[in-house]
Amino acid sequence: MPHKATEYQAFSHQILAWYQENPRELPWRGTQDPYKIWLSEIILQQTRVAQGLPYYYAFVETYPSVKDLALAPEEEVLRLWQGLGYYSRARNLHACAKSIWFEMDGEFPKTYDELLKLKGVGSYTAAAIASFAYGEVKAVVDGNVFRVLARYFGIVTDIASSKAKKEFETLANQIIPKDQPGEFNQAMMDFGARLCTPKSPGCEICPLKTSCFALLYNMVSELPMKINKVKIKERHFHYYVIKCGEKWVWKKRNSGDIWEGLFDFPQEESSADTQTPTLQIPSSAKEQIQQFPKKYRHILSHQRLNVVFSEVEIDEENLDQLENWCENEGFMLVAEDKIEYLAKPKLIVNFLNDQGI
Ligand code: SF4
Repeated sequence: MPHKATEYQAFSHQILAWYQENPRELPWRGTQDPYKIWLSEIILQQTRVAQGLPYYYAFVETYPSVKDLALAPEEEVLRLWQGLGYYSRARNLHACAKSIWFEMDGEFPKTYDELLKLKGVGSYTAAAIASFAYGEVKAVVDGNVFRVLARYFGIVTDIASSKAKKEFETLANQIIPKDQPGEFNQAMMDFGARLCTPKSPGCEICPLKTSCFALLYNMVSELPMKINKVKIKERHFHYYVIKCGEKWVWKKRNSGDIWEGLFDFPQEESSADTQTPTLQIPSSAKEQIQQFPKKYRHILSHQRLNVVFSEVEIDEENLDQLENWCENEGFMLVAEDKIEYLAKPKLIVNFLNDQGI
């Protein structure tokens, strides 16, 4: 159903008026520094604000400028990111800082179209930086915005479909006021995060309640429409925690799978937890393999990991044999007191915490 410009105007006025009374106090609000806005937006992708905040503070303190981030070693950046998940964000963040520092004289691109060319910067982040830092009239469209628009305007398009993004972006860009693009974008994000929430939205106190389609037609719980559910893949990992005195065997993960560039243990994958492991570990260790009783489950966006760990003790007199084996297999030996400096997936951090390390 086509909507009129006056309806858009009324909608944006009400959203902005609500925001004036209910702004979220966030450390990157009020700044026009594109570096800080960019950091906050990358950290908050697929992450709740409460979880992302300590990471934002840590990054701003460790790397106060794009130059500091560009000149940092990638492993240090990944270590600081540890626990936040979706590590490609950290790798892209670092690659992007390097390209801004080394190829663009340290100057952030100043338009939406130019920002989009940066690695890891999609339409949402580009619109956020362009509107918050430079006042460009570009609407951000994230899950919050999908929800508010779908409910208020009664849009029944499946938000997982390929045409949804364009449809919602077009609508949001028709609504966004030309004189307050940044404020409006922040208002929409906050309105969706705090009032028009996925579950139990505050319709009773909502300033839009007399004209909201979903409320009028009793469709609040149905909108936004999401028909194509993402298929979750079950995976079964068997980790070997191989120790020789104070040294542990570690593996740096390659590209082409989860956790690229992070460190974990030698690992096998099978079709079930119960499958007999087949890793060819040094023969001197065969008698000392012991599986830890606790099983772990770790959820990623499209995968569920079922994980068991086995401890493998190798006699120190066989250290040479172990070193050769590590070299052949692409593993590395790390002293126990250096383990904390490795960038590790959350799952491995949890396991180590359980072992008191
Ligand atoms: S009335 Fe309810 S569903 Fe409609 S915009 Fe307000 S909070 Fe969202």
